[in-house]
Amino acid sequence: MQLEKNTQTITIAINGIVQGVGFRPFVYREALELGITGTVSNSDDGVRIIATAPGEMLELFIKRLQNNTPPVATIASLTVASQPLRSFADFTIISSRHQHSATVQITPDLCVCNECLAEIRDKNNRRYQYPFTNCTNCGPRFSIIEHVPYDRPNTSMRTFPMCRRCQREYDNPLDRRFHAQPNACPVCGPSLSWHDNQGELIATENCIHAAAKALHSGKVVAIKGLGGFHLAVDGFSKASVALLRKRKKRPAKPLAVMARDIETAKKYCHISAQEAQLLCSPQHPIVLLTKKDPSDLAANLAANLGVLGVMLPYTPLHALLLEQPECPDVLVMTSGNTAGEPICTNNEDALKRLSHLADLFLLHNRDIVTRVDDSVTRVMDGATRLLRRGRGYSPVPIPLEPTKDILACGAEMKNTFCIVRNNEAYLGQHIGELSQAACYDFYRESIDHLKTVLECTPSLVAHDRHPDYFSTRYATGLDAAKVAVQHHHAHTAAVLAEHRITDPVLSIILDGTGYGDDSTIFGGEIYVADRKSYQRKAHLEHLQLPGGDQAVAEPWRTGFSLLHKHFAAQGIAEEQLPSWFTTIAAEKRKVIGQLLEKGFNSPLTSSCGRLFDGLAALTGTCLFSHYEGQAAMELEYQAALCEHREALEGYQVEVVADAEHLILSTAPLIKQVMADINAEVATPTIAYRFHLWLVNSLVFVLKRLRQETGLNTVTLSGGCIQNRVLFELLTACLRKETFEVYSGQVIPVNDGGIALGQAYIVGAT
Ligand code: ZN
Ligand code: ZN
Ligand code: FE
Repeated sequence: MQLEKNTQTITIAINGIVQGVGFRPFVYREALELGITGTVSNSDDGVRIIATAPGEMLELFIKRLQNNTPPVATIASLTVASQPLRSFADFTIISSRHQHSATVQITPDLCVCNECLAEIRDKNNRRYQYPFTNCTNCGPRFSIIEHVPYDRPNTSMRTFPMCRRCQREYDNPLDRRFHAQPNACPVCGPSLSWHDNQGELIATENCIHAAAKALHSGKVVAIKGLGGFHLAVDGFSKASVALLRKRKKRPAKPLAVMARDIETAKKYCHISAQEAQLLCSPQHPIVLLTKKDPSDLAANLAANLGVLGVMLPYTPLHALLLEQPECPDVLVMTSGNTAGEPICTNNEDALKRLSHLADLFLLHNRDIVTRVDDSVTRVMDGATRLLRRGRGYSPVPIPLEPTKDILACGAEMKNTFCIVRNNEAYLGQHIGELSQAACYDFYRESIDHLKTVLECTPSLVAHDRHPDYFSTRYATGLDAAKVAVQHHHAHTAAVLAEHRITDPVLSIILDGTGYGDDSTIFGGEIYVADRKSYQRKAHLEHLQLPGGDQAVAEPWRTGFSLLHKHFAAQGIAEEQLPSWFTTIAAEKRKVIGQLLEKGFNSPLTSSCGRLFDGLAALTGTCLFSHYEGQAAMELEYQAALCEHREALEGYQVEVVADAEHLILSTAPLIKQVMADINAEVATPTIAYRFHLWLVNSLVFVLKRLRQETGLNTVTLSGGCIQNRVLFELLTACLRKETFEVYSGQVIPVNDGGIALGQAYIVGAT
């Protein structure tokens, strides 16, 4: 902006993440350097500056505010207005103590910064080895806030009065800890304790050292962290990992690890520059990385998969633990809960619920107010994509087009909910599977907590159309206007909301299952959709799920169903059946055959996830699934292993039309897959060909729909879109055909994004 040269007064209003992140001290320092006088204060929706100086200095000031922003702050908007000339003696920070500021954005928890790390490693520093060190640039936020404004008395740090030296830092605008609400030191702050699994205190000089030794000797240690508990074991010990799996009743689901530092992580995984940056970002999420093979890591961390979830130490406690010479360089760090339940937060609860899982407990006495799970990310097609939005990201709001205040209840699996207030969508953290009683309690608790924090009780409620989802039942019980939203319209709308797309799009939704508009289960759909409505234009050919949900747990049933469908008429010779076929008891096959024959308890679905299940079974990759998405993930891994990515002979695209829809026929696929199996084509090749066939089929249909509708923008969503082989092939092929392609980045494409989509749709009505 152009200002007159003379001395003048302006106001600068800044919105975004600018509170609780050292923004005012930053403004103060810049003003001091430029000789600008005036004030800076927190306002209802950000920061407000009054500044007096010659025009050119003010211009420079504004430029610096925009360019030198503190690492964790984000400016959403900056507006300047002229004021009548005012003179100030100096530049001051006005305290925000008593203002009402529910409209202010709440900052997420952030990883320990390098300056704090340097202090805890410095023998001469008063915070040497102190695991609760933090400053305005780092440390706990959302997980310790009881209500706004974000001030120490409103957090679980309330019970730790600051010592004289900490108070001095807190009061000094030039100090890195100026108004750092969780500021603490060994004299005044929280402390660690070391317990056995009966809760008995074990006397030790150094709790962190004791924990490192226990981990080294193969024990399972429960560690209280930032937003909850982790269960940790040695990441190199197959036996320790097996023990943890057995106790947690989690036979196969991949476990995330924490590596000592990025160099350590590089020993065991391939890490691109972008992935390295993500690992080291202020959010420090779990990043899905391609494993190196062979490797010293325990083989049962993520068996049959090519990727491993890796994160780096994000609290001083984690850093100190992994820096102990005895500590294994890589620790399994899985959330501290029994399968399906929410992670524990308080000490008594953890000692009770985790005593049969952990041998030892590393606890501390700072309460966790809000559980926050680790976020999970994956770099695909050159962009960071959140698969689980938790620590570091939650509850940063997503700005929406003008809309009403809304509560969106989300789906059933990977549930998150969403509250829209003042045109901003606050997506709550990952809750989990609502069908678990404890998760459902956590769900209700979390909604109430976020309502309190935001000081907002929406009178409009959005929910999934599925009548049996717990989230739907929850919505039904509320005293508010309710709107049901179709699952895959919500998937689409999440992408529209994130990318602020207002025109209609061609939407590809490749998903597990969702409640359909007819008697079938949806899940492999192409819609023409916008924020308000959708039209189902095409879908994958229906397949029968013998036994319904049981088929999800036993992909062989779906494989069998595909064979039954495509070969039943002319039959298939016994010797041409895939070899796994005989591992399933003949009696069982007979029963399933009868179910399929009669169509009894065998719902029809167009689900893409189920088609993946079927293919995983046919190729012998996965017959039984122990965790959600296992078959599809293992098939993706097989495809990623394929080295011969030549053209697809025989894998024909066949599209047929019924009265309303185009249908992507699976007959040529299944016939060719069986031919390949019988010709002993390697599984990775077949898996890859299936991916490519799916992409070719989708692109074919999309081109037809483009001709019909004139639309050229494509959105991609649904759980299958987390598959990197599929995603990258699909985006590349679509771009080659000059489509404009969008998919979820900060909003998960899986059911974790449903709540935002619901809110966005309902807000338009
Ligand atoms: Zn710090
Ligand atoms: Zn202190
Ligand atoms: Fe879904």
